[in-house]
Amino acid sequence: MRKSMLVAVLVGVLGAGAGSGAFAQVKQMYWMTSGLFGPFPAVALIPTLPKEKQRDVTIPVSMWLIEHAKGLVVFDTGNNVAVSDGNCKKYWPAGFCDLLAPSQKRDDVVDMQLKKLGYSADRVKAVITSHSHLDHIGNIKMFPKAVHVIQKKELYQAWWPEKFQRGAFVMGDFDGTATDLNYFELDGDYDLFGDGSITILATPGHTLGHQSIRVKTAAGNTYVITGDAVWMQENLDGYPAGLNYSVKDYTSSVNRLKAIRDLENAEIMMSHDQDQWRAKGGRWFK
Ligand SMILES: [Zn+2]
Repeated sequence: MRKSMLVAVLVGVLGAGAGSGAFAQVKQMYWMTSGLFGPFPAVALIPTLPKEKQRDVTIPVSMWLIEHAKGLVVFDTGNNVAVSDGNCKKYWPAGFCDLLAPSQKRDDVVDMQLKKLGYSADRVKAVITSHSHLDHIGNIKMFPKAVHVIQKKELYQAWWPEKFQRGAFVMGDFDGTATDLNYFELDGDYDLFGDGSITILATPGHTLGHQSIRVKTAAGNTYVITGDAVWMQENLDGYPAGLNYSVKDYTSSVNRLKAIRDLENAEIMMSHDQDQWRAKGGRWFK
């Protein structure tokens, strides 16, 4: 009797270890895009690019759905629904519409994307917003029941941005009903569900309170979802993005994510990389 109990306990312990049990909370995650931007020259976004590196790009507007045992998590909500179907200039500054050329259709918006995956926005437990720029915070109002995870500094900056970044923050994204959302205002890193499977990483620089996430899946893989801490491969190659709040902090954040990649064998998932999206976008990751 006692022997069989011991065996049962051992099997339980070994079983928990076998399936990377510590992080078995994230079953899978899905890479979505809120339409595309472009084509335009990459140098328009990355002014430091040398001539021989210049190319035209058509880039995703990345959003992620993460299936966690405790509930659904969305990382970034894309362009506001009002930008859909050629209506960009009615909602965004005209200069951004001309530069980015968003192709978003109503069907591409986050609520419709979730529907296609079998979920409604009402079922989402947590919305993590990397930062308050117009292509990342656009549809937080579609998630009135969720906990909204954002750096406190980022909310401050959204409401009174630096002049040189002002056009990239659209007040309609976070005013009105968005002020009543259930915000979890962070000051730095945070372990979202207390189990190490989804960790918020403070990665300031692109904006004052930018954040990325690290996801450890049940299958034993580690992903770093960068948001705009890394737009595309050129940024990893050492060419900083334009439009940074602080280039010094931006560079430190890129280096932080690279270190996590190298130490933890993580895969870096960039927000606006044409080639990575074409190779891996619109599918599940385990
Ligand atoms: Zn962006």
